[in-house]
Amino acid sequence: MNAIRSARRAAGARPLRSACPLCGHGSGVTVHDRDGKSGRPLEVVGCGACGFVRTDPLPAPGALAAWYAGHYRTDYKGVARPRLRHVWRAAGHALDRLAFAAPFVRPGARTLDVGAGGGEFVALLARQGFDAHGVEPDDGYAGFARQTYGVDVRTGTIDALPEGADWELVTLFHVLEHLADPVVALERLRRRLAPGGTLVIEVPNVEHLRCAPSNLFFAAHVHYFSGRTLARAAALAGLEPVSPWPPARSPNLRVAFRAATLPSRRPASANPGIGEAALRRALSAQSMRTWGRYLSPARALPRLAARWRRWRTEATLERRFADAAAVLEHRYGASPPRATPARPAPRTA
Ligand SMILES: [Zn+2]
Repeated sequence: MNAIRSARRAAGARPLRSACPLCGHGSGVTVHDRDGKSGRPLEVVGCGACGFVRTDPLPAPGALAAWYAGHYRTDYKGVARPRLRHVWRAAGHALDRLAFAAPFVRPGARTLDVGAGGGEFVALLARQGFDAHGVEPDDGYAGFARQTYGVDVRTGTIDALPEGADWELVTLFHVLEHLADPVVALERLRRRLAPGGTLVIEVPNVEHLRCAPSNLFFAAHVHYFSGRTLARAAALAGLEPVSPWPPARSPNLRVAFRAATLPSRRPASANPGIGEAALRRALSAQSMRTWGRYLSPARALPRLAARWRRWRTEATLERRFADAAAVLEHRYGASPPRATPARPAPRTA
């Protein structure tokens, strides 16, 4: 049944309003038609040639920049600055992300977190002895990071930083899916990497099945990557993976990249079979995300238990901690600095 529905959708390719950012192809199929948060119409399409899933039409870069600078955090999280529970969760993510990135970077390296949010990851890296910096378009969040943790998180995008190819680690956690042109963005970041530098990307996976049918697609996300389309975007931007590739159905795709020794410029249409497979898998994942599956006891009960545990912890935060800095102190205090030596050797002029 699902396969039949997918096949019908795949057969209904039509002209799209924006060309595919990965391959330039101009037609595709509808994957989803509603914003999971607001319920408003939202056209999510899959490219008929390379299978890349994204909104159509693509928003203009200027409109996106204005939204992220002004309204995104308040529209999306309902607050102008992170609450203690946001800080608690962000600290947990930061510890997990550092454990992933640490093998790829030398102690004391110069690091940049793009889309740094409230600065929890930058604060963790700084605490671990890295020369840690960040950029964040939302001034409320960037200001919060500076004032609360004393870290260097500048308001803006990578354009806010002086030119130079000297970042040994650049991180993009749940950022790439928000940008107008992912290949252009990755190319620019690759050019800013120091020789041998690492770019760590984490995006939601369009093929994962553990979310509510309504919850995957919403207006803040312009692009919806699968393992195949993330690999293609990175290759087009001249990047090659240096970490093991995540499983096809994992909720998030987190991969470390370096500048490729032989940048790939192969057009996506050179191998149409890969594109068809990517689109087929995205459509099949979408048709498998049913309410029946999501609400089945085997899936719903562990999820409810985990939510209950999280709620119980987060309900006590206001009582236990005076402020966000105290939350980080508590969470990061349990993780001793792993980098030895903690500081880079002083530069001799
Ligand atoms: Zn395409």
